[in-house]
Amino acid sequence: MYASRLVEIGPAEQVFADPWHPYTAGLLGALPDRGFTPVPGHPPELTALPSGCGFEQRRPSLHTCEADPALVWSGERAVACAPVRAS
Ligand SMILES: [Zn+2]
Repeated sequence: MYASRLVEIGPAEQVFADPWHPYTAGLLGALPDRGFTPVPGHPPELTALPSGCGFEQRRPSLHTCEADPALVWSGERAVACAPVRAS
């Protein structure tokens, strides 16, 4: 979840091995054994949530999304507002 919206769903081993949403990838990259790199930027103000998933404001170079992105399913996995890759 990011900014109170579901952004990615899937079996843990698949999501950890190959995150589809840039926020998921950012969280995993912040783990000590994966580089300990914080997600840049700051979370949105939760009392004034932006349109879309809200992550676009943190990483506009990596991410664009629509006003109300729906989860797009591919097999056992779903992701909002990010390209779905073949699994
Ligand atoms: Zn988004």
